[in-house]
Amino acid sequence: MRTEDRIKTDQIVLDKLAERGVTIREIAELVIFTQERHTDGLTIEACESNVLSVLRKREVQNAVMTGIQLDELADKKLLCEPLQTMVETDMGMYGIDEILALSIVNVYGSIAITNFGYLDVLKPEGVMKKLNQDKSQCNCFLDDIVAAIAAAAASRIVHNGEFAKKKP
Ligand code: MG
Repeated sequence: MRTEDRIKTDQIVLDKLAERGVTIREIAELVIFTQERHTDGLTIEACESNVLSVLRKREVQNAVMTGIQLDELADKKLLCEPLQTMVETDMGMYGIDEILALSIVNVYGSIAITNFGYLDVLKPEGVMKKLNQDKSQCNCFLDDIVAAIAAAAASRIVHNGEFAKKKP
């Protein structure tokens, strides 16, 4: 991909997330949620910057675009049955939304995978709860994508070591 196409794709991904009601700040707040007990001096700005770095990765961009596209098609009732109902109602047994999100965390290793599981089970206050309660659009894929981006950014922060907790 040429540089200008890359920059265009970076922007498309950010625009898509914004269009679906997700801000970088909200994803950064999820990163803080997973990492505050394990770091010293972690700032929301550092989390935002790590979220943006995650969103510049090709594999991540592909997963974000694919997941959001499927949510949008479900909104327009353009999926074939029984898929339409499964995605539209975010059926628990469907599970492909989590699998797609794993393609994001897989890029960032075991810390990202465990953080993703943590967010998926806890569904903390903030953007994940908002997406789960939002009935105005289908967020079947988006909630998992957001958790995966946050988990990946958390892993990036841990590996970078800048905010590592000082041993007493
Ligand atoms: Mg889901």
